[in-house]
Amino acid sequence: MKEVKFDEGKSFVDNLDTCPFCGGKAVILPCYDSTTVNRETMIKFKIKCGKCGIEPPGTHGIIFIRLTESGDLIIKTDERKTAAKNWNKRADNV
Ligand SMILES: [Zn+2]
Repeated sequence: MKEVKFDEGKSFVDNLDTCPFCGGKAVILPCYDSTTVNRETMIKFKIKCGKCGIEPPGTHGIIFIRLTESGDLIIKTDERKTAAKNWNKRADNV
């Protein structure tokens, strides 16, 4: 079992492997049903292959951002890393 690495020093998509099916570059996209409730905005996103469009299981996720009363932004939930790990997971290293 290979440890899936996530390098914080790189931009998000640079941590994503190429598509296991076509070798295309992975992309992250927002889903257009983001909602704001009680100062918190939920952004839904998905990682997919920019070439063949495949979306493997576990590569969708959410980000919750809270706009506080003092005007600061707090990221409450961020599932990008989990989604990236699921994208980078390959049959030969499960
Ligand atoms: Zn592909």
